Formats: sequence, C-alpha cells, structure tokens
Amino acid sequence: MVDDILKRAEQGCVLHREEVVELLSIADADLLKKLYDTAYRIKEKQVGRVAYFRGLIECSNICIKDCYYCGIRRSNENVERFLMDEDEIYREAIWAYEAEYGSCVIQAGERQDEPFIAMIERTVKRISATTGGQLGITLSLGEQTEKTYQRWKDAGAHRYLLRIETTNPQLYAQIHPEDHKLETRKECLAALRRTGYQVGTGVMMGLPGQSMGDLADDILFLKSIDIDMVGMGPYIPHTDTPMGKAVPPYTELENKQALTLGLKMIAVTRIVLKDVNIAAATALQALEYTGREQGLRCGANVIMPNVTETDYRPKYQLYDNKPCTDENSTMCRGCLSGRIKGIGEKVGFNERGDSPHFQARTAE
Ligand code: SAM
Ligand code: SF4
Repeated sequence: MVDDILKRAEQGCVLHREEVVELLSIADADLLKKLYDTAYRIKEKQVGRVAYFRGLIECSNICIKDCYYCGIRRSNENVERFLMDEDEIYREAIWAYEAEYGSCVIQAGERQDEPFIAMIERTVKRISATTGGQLGITLSLGEQTEKTYQRWKDAGAHRYLLRIETTNPQLYAQIHPEDHKLETRKECLAALRRTGYQVGTGVMMGLPGQSMGDLADDILFLKSIDIDMVGMGPYIPHTDTPMGKAVPPYTELENKQALTLGLKMIAVTRIVLKDVNIAAATALQALEYTGREQGLRCGANVIMPNVTETDYRPKYQLYDNKPCTDENSTMCRGCLSGRIKGIGEKVGFNERGDSPHFQARTAE
C-alpha cells in the first residue's frame, strides 16, 4: 500500500488525507527508507541538490507573548533579556553577506511597539542599501498589522516566516494562553500574502496529544493556503516553561523518536507540496548532531546557520540543549559546509535561493 501511494505521488497524483496519515505512520525501516528516497527524488527534480544558507540573527529575546512551550516567553523570569542595537544587527547581516550566504533571517520575540517597528525598518533599509538588494532578507518577528508588514516590505524585506504551530484549534488552545488566537495567525498569514512576501509557515511536531491525523491536516493546510516556504521542527521541552515542567527531559529514545517524526514530516511535506522551500530546523540538530543534514536527505533544502554573536546565544534558549551556542559563526559555516558536501550536495553560496513555488505563482 505504501509503495503504491509513493508511486502515485511521484507521478504527480494528489494524495488523500488517509494516504498522508499512512505515510506519516510508517514505522518499518525499509518503508521509511523508501519514503525518504522518494522525497529526495522529488526534491532533486523540483529544487535541485543545493542547500541554501540563511544566516540567522536572533536579535532580541524580549517578547510580549507567553506561549506555554517557549523558553523566552514573557513570564520566564530566568531569562536575561537583550535587544541588539541597529549596528549589531547590521554587522551580522553584512557578515552573512560577506560569508556568501545569500540571505539572512532576522528573528526575535514579538514586539508591536513603534520604536521596535521603526528600528527594524531602518535596519532592513540599511542592509538592503549596502548590499544593493542582493542579500535576501527574511523576517520572523511574529504577529503584526498589515501596515507594519508593508513598511518592512517597503524597506527591503521580501520573505516572512510565521509558524501556525498547529492547525488543530483544541491543541492550539492547549499550548497558548487564551488571548493567543489561531484565527489571528491565519489572518496574519493572509496579510503577508497580500503584501507580496514569500510566505513561510510550519508547525511543531511531537506536541503532547498531537496525532498523525493532526499532522496530516497541518500539511494539507500548508498546501491549501498555497504556501511558498515551510519551516517546521520537533517540539523540544524547555524546563522553565509550563509544558516543559509537566514532563521530564527527553530520554535518548524520545530524542530518536522526535527526530524520526521530524524527518518523516519533512519527507511527506516535500512529497505533497513539491516545489516549496523547506528548512531543516535547528531543533533537529538538538536531537542528533547531524539532524539537519538528515533533514536535507529527506527533502529539506534550506539551513539557517546561526550568525548571532556568541555572547547572546545562551540567552536565546527556546528549548533545552539548543545547539551551537558556544560555536562562533565562522565555525558554524565551516563545519556545516563540510558536512553538506559530505552528503553530496552543494551549498548555494551567493544565491538568494527563492522558493520555486513563489516564482511560479508570481509568473502567472
Ligand atoms: N516570536 C516569533 C514567533 O513566534 O513567530 C519568532 C521567534 S519564535 C522563538 C520562533 C519559533 O520557535 C516559533 O514559531 C516556535 O515554533 C519555535 N519554538 C519555540 N519554542 C520551542 C520549543 N520548545 N521547541 C521547538 N520549537 C520551539
Ligand atoms: Fe514569543 Fe515567539 Fe516564543 Fe511565542 S514562540 S513566546 S511569540 S518568541
């Protein structure tokens, strides 16, 4: 049955929900290999054997939100808060440009106040002017008004990542306080689309109580809103959060299970969505050192090496054991490029690596 589903998917047939659930439920090692190999062939055909780097700048851990899973949530008093100044963000973006990364991602906890919005606007303008618009600029700064999205777009940003986290309304309500609304997320994604961004979203997998049916619905949701980029990753507990406190830290076996689920989600998403960009999340590496490269082998084509100053990294702990907190940016570049060549792929240095899906839908 799995063989048949994979064969039809490769021929371009649309998969039904039950078939997506069946692929996500694979446990047999031989079938898993077939799943990953099929996803890789589709990736090769649709986006090539190239991994694109996005230099990740985690510019602030100050957040107005209180998501129950996240280590930098507003109520966590064990976090030393920081906000980089404009020069620091600019310098790190230019470091990524000079390291030939092709793109950067500016990410932070959520703030909706004018001083923050204006600071991001000025910084994006400055990066864009210095690099002549050549450095791709992705933002991941949470829920904002359409006007704010537009201002940042006009300043030079062109991609935006906002995870939906889960499309199951009950599960969404369990992992967020009452004033964090799934509908608001959906409206923000629609606003980003109207503003003309390449839009990225995704989910966390392995949330308590989440079923394979939920994850299949998540993948089909990504398809239904015609998304350009996918950024998803395994949920990993953080000891200082309400959800992390409720369970002991992951055992080795749980790490392995979370990694396999993460890889299956990447593979099935590639099989269903085909020509989108898919990021191999840093959280995969927290579960196993080569987790991100395994993500590339299962269908991902984007990696986000951290270019944040080493001093800030321990303060941006979303989950326990976040990797590369004591490696500097040059070490990250070196070790990652080597490992990617090791799996027979090339790094798309100096290329923005826009989503082929976005290019196709905007050429219409
Ligand atoms: N504040 C912005 C937002 O939420 O969109 C951007 C930064 S936020 C830290 C980026 C992503 O981190 C979230 O979308 C969430 O999926 C992920 N994240 C937070 N806590 C996590 C955890 N414990 N395990 C895995 N991913 C986590
Ligand atoms: Fe804030 Fe984003 Fe963490 Fe939620 S996931 S608490 S919005 S940084």
